[in-house]
Order: sequence, then C-alpha cells, then structure tokens
Amino acid sequence: MSDCFILLSAGKSKRFKSKHNKQFITYKNKPLFEHSLKIAQDSKLFKKILLVSNKKIKKIKYKSVDVIKGGIERHNSTQNALHFLKNKKIKNVYIHDAARPNLSINLLRKLKNNLKKNSAVVPYLNSENSVKYKNNNRINNLNRDKVLLTQTPQCFNFNELFNLYKNNKEKITDEASLYLNNNKKIKFILGDKNNFKITTIDDLKYLKSETYYGIGFDIHRLIKNKKLFLGGVKIPYHSGLKGHSDGDVILHAIIDALLGAMRKGDIGTLFPSNSTKFKNIRSKNMLMPVVKLIRENNFDINNIDINLICENPKVSKIRYKVIKSISSLLSINKSLINLKGKTVEKLGLIGNEQAIACEVICSLSR
Ligand code: ZN
Repeated sequence: MSDCFILLSAGKSKRFKSKHNKQFITYKNKPLFEHSLKIAQDSKLFKKILLVSNKKIKKIKYKSVDVIKGGIERHNSTQNALHFLKNKKIKNVYIHDAARPNLSINLLRKLKNNLKKNSAVVPYLNSENSVKYKNNNRINNLNRDKVLLTQTPQCFNFNELFNLYKNNKEKITDEASLYLNNNKKIKFILGDKNNFKITTIDDLKYLKSETYYGIGFDIHRLIKNKKLFLGGVKIPYHSGLKGHSDGDVILHAIIDALLGAMRKGDIGTLFPSNSTKFKNIRSKNMLMPVVKLIRENNFDINNIDINLICENPKVSKIRYKVIKSISSLLSINKSLINLKGKTVEKLGLIGNEQAIACEVICSLSR
C-alpha cells in the first residue's frame, strides 16, 4: 500500500481573466503546475504522482508522474483520478490544487504524520480579516477565530473517499466539503501561509520575488595520472585536477556561487578540507547538500553563468555534455545555464596547461 499525490490542473481559470490557463503560465521560471509536482517528487513520500490536466502535456520530465484527463468541474477531475487509481493498492491520496505553487515538503510531512491516526487531514488557516456573512438580506458578524480557511493538499484514506464520491450527487468545491456533508470526521491542522492560492492575474503582480546573486571562483593544479572531471562529467584529457576531491573546478565554483546567493558561507564550511571523511569525494556528491539547501529554503535558480579558464580542453567540444550534466544535477532547465571558455594567451600556470580555473555567477529568487 502506498500514497498518491494527485495534482488537479484541469480548471478553466474563470476568475483568472487571461487568455492562458493559469496552470500553464510561467511563475519563477516554470509553468505554475510544475512547482507542486517537483515538491511532491522531491519529498519522496509518494510512490505515485498523478497530474490531472485537460491540456495535452507532451513531455513530462518528472519520473513516476502519470497524466490523466480532467473533468468539467473540479470534483469530476478528482473522480477521474480516483477511478484511475482503483485497484492500484493506494492507501492515502493527497489532493492538491496546481494554483498553490508554494507547497512545502514540511507541510507534506506534517500531513503524513497526522494521517497515521486519522482518515482525513486538511490544512487550514484562520482568517486575518473580520468576517461577516449575509443571510436573507441581513449581514451578520462571524467570530473570525471560528472561521477555518481550508487549503490543499487535502488528504484522505483512498477507499473512504472513493466510496463517498461514488454516492455523491452534489457539486462540491473541495473534498473537505464532501466529508462534512456526510458528517465524517476531519482532522484540521494548521496550514502554511506561504501555501496561498493564485486566483486572479493580479495575485501574480503582488508576488514580487526577491532576487539574490552569488559569485564563485576556483582553481586547481593539473597533475598526471588523475582523471579530469568538469561539471560532473569525465573529460578525456592527459591530466586531472589535483585536490582533496576530484578537483572539479566548475562544480566547486558553482557551489560557492549558490552558497553565496543563499548567504550560507562557502564550500569549506560544508566540507572542511582537513576532514578525512571527504577525501577523494566526487564533487557531484558535494553539490547535493547545496541542492537540498536551495529546496528547503524555497529558492529557485534563475540562471548560472560560467567562465572556464584554460587553454585545453576546448570548451566548444565539452559545452553540451557539461551543461547537460549540471542541468540534471541541479534539476533545472538547460536553458538557464551558460558556459563560456576563456584562454589566457599562454600566460602563467593556466597558459602552460598546469592549472584550470573557473568563475561562476548565479542568480536565485525566493
Ligand atoms: Zn576546488
């Protein structure tokens, strides 16, 4: 029995008022719906991830994601998803709206913990505004401390939700309503303010993200009888880079640039060179804790610009595979990475092919 994350991305965005469906507009360098997919996959909490969409999605770069067609209304889409999952041994489903791109792994973990003892768990926030409601032309006060604004993901025992949907004839706006209509118990847990919903095009205008820049530099001496690694890939060459690790100057400069933008010290803070624990470590393994920091602190990489400073190997020959490797290590699109080559007129150590240097600038947003 495993858990499934269902991402609803089939809405018609009636309130969004743009010619594009909002799930596909670009938000922080990615289509809106991709943010939650990535978080769900990175959380490693789900065996199965289901994307419900009415638009044909040609290529989905996330493993373990199935795409199915949605329905006319939200509850029809959920029903399609539940039918697709029938007989697939699913224990719990987490149903999430694509319009909430700032889902966090922390909230997913909190939901999972609460599902151990409850068959329905829904995140909520209290209202920050005073609330009134209209009843027969009369406006009444509501105690805002007793108002729950529900968020998604809403999480349920699969079989229980499946059966409630099977007998449901009404139009519902979320699964919590279906539970309440049937007098079923829900465990409400405090949600996350960042996990807000993008409803109108104006919402996007208010979401000004902060941008941070980082710079990194590295140089290593070339020595015989060592393999050369640049950007995480092995490059055929007569020498390799001397160092505590594989000496990958590109990845080391990237690590420093990313840490710089996050204001988290430098590569030496993470990997002290006097520690034998990291001896001969591959630099791509040094990048992983940095990727984790980016994810956990909600940063997105805007772009990375790299200058590789050496006489040889020629950058034009290795550009494609180096960019491809960095893109896969950082899980970002290749179009966000640029690699330039620079020779030094045969001057000095670098000019004599006794060393390779690299400088990197990156930009992150949050
Ligand atoms: Zn280095």
